[in-house]
Amino acid sequence: MTVKFGPSGNSKSFYDEGYKTSVDMPKWLKQKGLDAYEYSFGRGINISIETAEKIGNAALENDILLSVHSPYYINFGSSDIEIKEKSQEYLRKTLILADKMKADRVVLHPGSVGKNSRQQAFENLTLAMENAVKMLKELNLYGRISICPETMGKKNQLGTLDEILEICQLDETLIPTVDFGHIHALGRGAINSTEDYEFIFDRIENALGKYRLDNLHCHFSRIEFTEAGEKKHWTFNDTQYGPEFEPLAEVLVKRKISPRIICESRENMAEDSLQMKKIYIEYLTKLNYSLQSEQ
Ligand SMILES: [Zn+2]
Repeated sequence: MTVKFGPSGNSKSFYDEGYKTSVDMPKWLKQKGLDAYEYSFGRGINISIETAEKIGNAALENDILLSVHSPYYINFGSSDIEIKEKSQEYLRKTLILADKMKADRVVLHPGSVGKNSRQQAFENLTLAMENAVKMLKELNLYGRISICPETMGKKNQLGTLDEILEICQLDETLIPTVDFGHIHALGRGAINSTEDYEFIFDRIENALGKYRLDNLHCHFSRIEFTEAGEKKHWTFNDTQYGPEFEPLAEVLVKRKISPRIICESRENMAEDSLQMKKIYIEYLTKLNYSLQSEQ
């Protein structure tokens, strides 16, 4: 098992090269040497069943692991009956299309605290996630698609690492989406060393065990933040913003953890995914070399 890398959405260069549809992305990614792709319904679910199936077939033919990001407007923190019902409906639609795409993971933003107390919002989220697991079973997707609640970057959003771990303890089909940029932003520059990454992985392993640690879903990008948390995603060239990928690569190699890492860099997500893969393979080669010389 090795770490899998790929972009969220389509790079600017994909369009610059004359491509127009995401159906061509899996082949394009394979040619670049990448392994994964996250398709976003973030701003809305506007894809036909036919296109969803075409993307899914292309991903399968090109050995690209496919995940889907559910709409950003899903809000499981809300106490409003209408928002609760609509949010469940958006998730149901996402799951049905994710199945047509043969995706195995659906990423989810838990929702906002809003006017509730944080505790009330978290209780709403817990009930909504229990319902989401039931929905997977009703749709016969349990065991085929994992729902992956994401660690969020803003204070008023649900989704601290502890909250995500507690939610994932509800059912083993729930896998955390660990967004390192968001954790860095929420902690106002919290990730600076291999120890900081180790600390995150230790907490995940203690809460969810080795299997889910080994099969994490991750998002990575450099990020700008303010007092309130996340402000803006940047690219690997914008080195004034953290976190750094090198210490993460070192920890992944050392602990033999093989997550799927989706890059959310602005415009350059495929290029930056490749850069991460290159750095990771360098660490992997270095470790193998040092193991050989010990023998
Ligand atoms: Zn997200």
